[in-house]
Amino acid sequence: MDLDVLTDAIDRLSDSDPLIYGDAESIEILHRQRARLDAFVTKATAGFETEGNWVPDGAHDAAAWLAAKCRLPKPEARRLLRRGRALRHLPAVDRAWSDGQIGAAQVDLLSGSRSPATEEAFARDEQMLVTQAALLPYQSIVRVVDYWKQLADPDGVEEDGEKRRGRRDVYLEKSFGGMWLGKITLDPIAGAIAGEELERIEQEMFEADWAEARARTAGEPTVGDLSRTPGQRRADALVEMASRSQTAPVGGRRPAPLFSITIDYELLRGRVCELADGTVVAPGSLLPWLSEAYLERVVFAPSRRVEVSERARLFSGATRRAIELRDRECQHAMCDIPARSCQADHVIPFSEGGPTVEENGQMLCGFHNRLRNGPAPPGD
Ligand SMILES: [Zn+2]
Repeated sequence: MDLDVLTDAIDRLSDSDPLIYGDAESIEILHRQRARLDAFVTKATAGFETEGNWVPDGAHDAAAWLAAKCRLPKPEARRLLRRGRALRHLPAVDRAWSDGQIGAAQVDLLSGSRSPATEEAFARDEQMLVTQAALLPYQSIVRVVDYWKQLADPDGVEEDGEKRRGRRDVYLEKSFGGMWLGKITLDPIAGAIAGEELERIEQEMFEADWAEARARTAGEPTVGDLSRTPGQRRADALVEMASRSQTAPVGGRRPAPLFSITIDYELLRGRVCELADGTVVAPGSLLPWLSEAYLERVVFAPSRRVEVSERARLFSGATRRAIELRDRECQHAMCDIPARSCQADHVIPFSEGGPTVEENGQMLCGFHNRLRNGPAPPGD
């Protein structure tokens, strides 16, 4: 095909008003066609590399040529070429991308899971993984691929877990003018422990700020009325964490659990092993925590029922916790707000006789809870 035909088609599209295509159906079509074009450009560029068509211009390599002629940032040029090369070993991924069923993000995720150790299993399972990638939201396919790697290369996954933990680092130092600067790197489990506590304290502070702003503005405040920015609140929460740590008695009992881990009913097979926010972790990375019992064990029993091992002080408390851990995030299809920031809501409303049991509960964020139970929120 003459590329003038493509140019003509895009010319005609560009001459029209983009707002005409602002409806839901058109947006899906546009994104799908863009993915198809991306796939084609990537494959053509990979061919350009192998044919050595960048040589006559005196470029060091194809990436340098792309950076100079197509004005791509070098890392992006390299990524594009890598994707094109990888595609040669991934026939089903290639077909799905060319058909617009998946995009570059899914291609990178799938090709990234193929290593010398998983090559054979990947060839066997490629079509299954691609089919899932075309159906599931991106976050879910990340989880699927993580589990697939645990089964295809258990040793490699444990090694990766070790490596990730080995990269932990905290930098906090006094700088010019007495200001302190810092940077934190944590593995998924340590990050869940520290990050969720920081978020919990920040939420306490947000509620206090909100109440103060409400009193000050004598009505419905907006985010602009709050006395602190989110970053400032996070900083204050970190200092609050330090001061709480200092007031804790030496040798005092640590609060348990520090983090939650969700495990399949057939847990010994390691098919489900993830943190409450859905991050998949290698079973071996739990070992340091097992003897301390600082983790909350959650077992998914048949029919999606959850049995919670600890924290079951009150029936209502345990039920809410079970729903929170089962759903993990707001149950609205368009939402991924974590369950800890959601409300437990009745599926069949209480007023219509819906019982307050786990099976009739679901997590909904404040926005979607209001959307379901009241008039539409502002902004629609
Ligand atoms: Zn929601």
